[in-house]
Amino acid sequence: MPGTLIIITAPSGAGKTTLVRGLLDRDPQVHLSVSYTTRSPRPGEENGRAYHFVDTESFRELRDRGEFLEWAEVHGNYYATSRTWIREQMAAGRDIVLEIDWQGAQQVRRVFPEAVGVFVLPPSFEELESRLRGRGSDSDDVIARRLLGARGEMRHVGEFDYAIINNELQEAIDDLVAVVRASRLRCANQRARHATYFETLEQD
Ligand code: 5GP
Repeated sequence: MPGTLIIITAPSGAGKTTLVRGLLDRDPQVHLSVSYTTRSPRPGEENGRAYHFVDTESFRELRDRGEFLEWAEVHGNYYATSRTWIREQMAAGRDIVLEIDWQGAQQVRRVFPEAVGVFVLPPSFEELESRLRGRGSDSDDVIARRLLGARGEMRHVGEFDYAIINNELQEAIDDLVAVVRASRLRCANQRARHATYFETLEQD
């Protein structure tokens, strides 16, 4: 399959969503998977664009029907990736980005070992805290839980192929664009994309 599967993981507040938006603007070949979640929409988050917002009962139903490629509980809410959507995109040879947590990343890697893992880090813990507070859309209790979660999440950085430190946004977007571009050029991908050409090269 010529498409590339890219997993992007970060603690919330590391700037992952902005980074991914930057990637999508710069690289129209990349398609973003819209996850399912049981958490409530934040101001400005549209159903079907930011997430598919569902209640816990519907989530469990979809999960038990095997509709999810992976799912995880993060900060007390459920999140999942649609198996059908991924299968369709992969079949069409599209480049797909999954914005998921480390638990989901582990599950996806088991199914697609060739997936490329990118971990986005904030410049420091202090900076992460001030970004989470600055967002102003979550309560103190939620922020405290997210900071604790961030420590746990960042422990998994070593399971990823790339680590991008989001200090200066444009630079971090450049880094992400470069990772996607390099991943696309891996020999296995190029062979799938240019099958006839590679066959002639690799004949005895
Ligand atoms: P937020 O609620 O801030 O949008 O996301 C919270 C966490 O859930 C982030 O770490 C994000 O990567 C993760 N997340 C979002 N969608 C998915 C998903 O489909 N699967 C998994 N495993 N995690 C997800």
